[in-house]
Amino acid sequence: MKIWNPYEITGKWLRGSFHNHTTNSDGWFPLETVYKMYGGYDFLGISDHDKITKHEGEREIPTVFEAIEVSSRQTHMLLVNPPHSIMENYSSEFTIENYQRFVDLTAANGGFAVLVHPNRYFSNFWKLDDMFKMENFLGVEVYNGDGNPEYDIAFDKWDALLSAGRKVWGFGNDDSHVYGQEKRAWNMVMAMENTNEAIVDAIVKGNFYVSTGYGFDAIQVEDDTVVVDLRSNELLDKMYKYVTFFGKDGRVLQETTGRIKQAKYECKGDEGYVRIAVYLEGGYSAFSQPLFVEK
Ligand SMILES: [Zn+2]
Ligand SMILES: [Zn+2]
Repeated sequence: MKIWNPYEITGKWLRGSFHNHTTNSDGWFPLETVYKMYGGYDFLGISDHDKITKHEGEREIPTVFEAIEVSSRQTHMLLVNPPHSIMENYSSEFTIENYQRFVDLTAANGGFAVLVHPNRYFSNFWKLDDMFKMENFLGVEVYNGDGNPEYDIAFDKWDALLSAGRKVWGFGNDDSHVYGQEKRAWNMVMAMENTNEAIVDAIVKGNFYVSTGYGFDAIQVEDDTVVVDLRSNELLDKMYKYVTFFGKDGRVLQETTGRIKQAKYECKGDEGYVRIAVYLEGGYSAFSQPLFVEK
C-alpha cells in the first residue's frame, strides 16, 4: 500500500486567505482598511471581481498576493498570481474554454486557480458537470466565510471530484466584503519561509489545511497508519474533540472523540483517499487535505 502524505515536508505554519474584496469592486472597505482588518495574518490575497487590485500603501502583513475573481453571472473562479496580460480583451463570460484559458495562463505564471463557492445556488455556483469539464485547476473552495451555512460549504462537491480520481485541494477563504466577515475561514500553510514562492510551492503540494479556529500540529504516516496530532497545549488539551476520517464518496471511515491530542486511522487499502475533519467543542474546526491511498 502507498499513502501519499502532502504533510511530509515540515516548515512553519503560516495563516492567510486568498479571496477578499475591497472598494475596487463591491467590498465596503478600501485596501488600507482591509490590510488592518487582517492584522496578524502572515499572507493575504486581494481578489476583486474582474480586476487585479494593485498592492500599495502601508501594511503590516508580510506577504501579499495579487488575485482576481473571474465573475460571470453563472460561476466564479479565483486566480491567485494571474498574469496581467489576462486583462487585455478581458471577458468574464462563462464558457469552459474561456475559464480554462485563465486557469492555464495563471498556472504558467506561477499561480493557481480555485473554483469558489460552488454551492452558492442563490447566485453564482458551479454545476458539478462543469467542474469535471475543467482541468488543471488546483482546488475547490470548500469553506467560504460569507456566512450562509446552506450555500458556503462544499465538501460534497470536493468529495465527488476526489472520488473520481481528481487531485484537487480544499481551500478556506473569507470572501470578505462587509464588516464582520473577516477572519472566519483561512488556510494554514506549512511553508519553508514566508515568501510568495514558498507559500505557492507548499499550496501546490497540498501542504496546508483549512481552519476556522482549530488546527493540526502534524499529520504523519507510520506504516499504513495515519497519525494526526491535533493542535495541543495545556488549555486545548482539556477540551473535547471530534475527529472524523473520511474516504471515497465521503464515506465515514472512523470517528474518534474525547479529550485527546492525537487520533490514528489504520488504512485498509480501499479508501481511495483519507481526509480528516476535527471540531473542538465550541465549534472551531480544521479540515485536512486528502492523503491518497493506493493499494
Ligand atoms: Zn464570488
Ligand atoms: Zn468573492
